[in-house]
Amino acid sequence: MVGETKDKRFVILGAGPAGMGAAWELSKRGAKHVVVLDKNDRVGGLARTEKFQGYFFDVGPHRMMTKYAEVEDLWKKMLGKDLLVRPRITRIYYRGRFFQYPLKMVNALYNLGLIQSMLAGASFLKAQLVWRNKEPKNFAEWTTKTFGNRISKAFFRDYTKKVWGIEADEVGVDWAGQRIKPIKILDVFGELVKSMFTMEQVKNIGAQFFYPRYGAGMFYEKMQQELEVLGVKFLLNSKIIAVRCEESCIRAVTVETAAGREDVEGDVFISSIPSNLLVASMTPPASKNVLELTKAMRFRAHIVVNMIIKRKDLFEDSWFYIQSTDVRIARIGNYGQFSSDMLADPNTSAIGIEFFCYEGDEFWNKKDDELIELALREMTELGLVRHEEFGGAYVIRSDDAYPTYYMGYREKFAALRAFLEQFQNLRLIGRAGMYKYKDQDHAMYTGMLTVRNLFGEHHDVWELGEEQEFFEEKTVSQTPKK
Ligand SMILES: Cc1cc2nc3c(=O)[nH]c(=O)nc-3n(C[C@H](O)[C@H](O)[C@H](O)COP(=O)(O)OP(=O)(O)OC[C@H]3O[C@@H](n4cnc5c(N)ncnc54)[C@H](O)[C@@H]3O)c2cc1C
Repeated sequence: MVGETKDKRFVILGAGPAGMGAAWELSKRGAKHVVVLDKNDRVGGLARTEKFQGYFFDVGPHRMMTKYAEVEDLWKKMLGKDLLVRPRITRIYYRGRFFQYPLKMVNALYNLGLIQSMLAGASFLKAQLVWRNKEPKNFAEWTTKTFGNRISKAFFRDYTKKVWGIEADEVGVDWAGQRIKPIKILDVFGELVKSMFTMEQVKNIGAQFFYPRYGAGMFYEKMQQELEVLGVKFLLNSKIIAVRCEESCIRAVTVETAAGREDVEGDVFISSIPSNLLVASMTPPASKNVLELTKAMRFRAHIVVNMIIKRKDLFEDSWFYIQSTDVRIARIGNYGQFSSDMLADPNTSAIGIEFFCYEGDEFWNKKDDELIELALREMTELGLVRHEEFGGAYVIRSDDAYPTYYMGYREKFAALRAFLEQFQNLRLIGRAGMYKYKDQDHAMYTGMLTVRNLFGEHHDVWELGEEQEFFEEKTVSQTPKK
């Protein structure tokens, strides 16, 4: 494909970070015919930013952190002084108390009270012995080995059920290494000594992240502006409803717009839309067996109630994890702490109240008004806002938000991937295209590297980001770059 690659007609399915990364790389390489399709009215996908009553809201706040130097360089180049460096202040709310995040043993024990903390400490020490030479097989075992049975149960297993909708022993260990900091026994003693001298603070303010002044989507909108100048065509509000296949190639996709249906033909198709949807949209239809394979992809849905609160500086945290099972809320993002420019009125606050469910279940089908009412009621129960402070809200639903790493998903998804790889002019990229629970930087980089491969380079895009490396606590300058 190398020689005349840039003369081919490229069709990019999805204008999220992955699709935008692919479009960027194509235009950099001089591709002349690039079309990006998306059903949304704006670019950015799950990392887009919407405007409501003059306030800017993400689909759940999207901080920017990366170990890919090229991605960070692009953020900086595109946003300049509008790329803010923000401190991360995050806490876990459990049984009416706030715990440090990422979880620190000493802070957790301190907050649990004397008896509970002695029991938790003993269970942690026991786990160090019992699990010394054993490998955990699932997420429940991983957290038990790392924190002991008591902390695992209190802080991880219930929350895992809330977020993923399945028990912790049905979740694979794959994502834990990057998301949860392992604890070493020597560190615990180090923490203990430190806390004796400093009276350990509850908040963790060591870490930092990047964030655009007007929300994560600002970056993708800037990219769009530059790409349009370079001739890239964006067809937004265009829902892909059919994928026309001929032998082992894709010839066109059919999109539905307000004006009707349209076929978009191409030579190369780069897809970041959910791969199960891609297969289900194929015409002629895929075989029954292949359609059965699409069940390997199980997404957890996300609902956010974005709310304005008539009180300044509601809390200092960038976000809270709500561990408690008494309420349905799982997380609360505080946009003023990401960028004060997102607030239409500096005397108010803007928060994103997040819930997890499955598309089509009872929670998903609740009316927007019910969801707003529930969010407000639970926020008052948590003691975080007062009813009369409500200043307006709206709801965003995302059906394919979280690829679930249930036990055995890898093998099952591999069969679907193998089917799709038979199409010579199709490439899968991004979170839902590749079924990877990864962040926006990863998604964008898969788009960029996939295009480089089309131009003759050799990157193993599927292995990208598979290394287990925890960088949750790093400052932006400390994050190791590759
Ligand atoms: C609540 C939440 C919080 C997150 N927080 C962070 C964070 O703090 N930091 C971070 O880096 N990452 C975060 N992420 C992850 C980040 O959003 C994703 O990694 C990233 O958006 C994936 O990019 P993508 O392009 O692969 O997919 P998407 O962003 O999902 O983009 C896919 C695009 O395809 C389009 N599409 C789908 N179906 C069709 C169709 N039939 N027709 C046309 N278009 C279609 C969609 O509209 C979408 O625009 C978060 C995700 C969620 C859900």
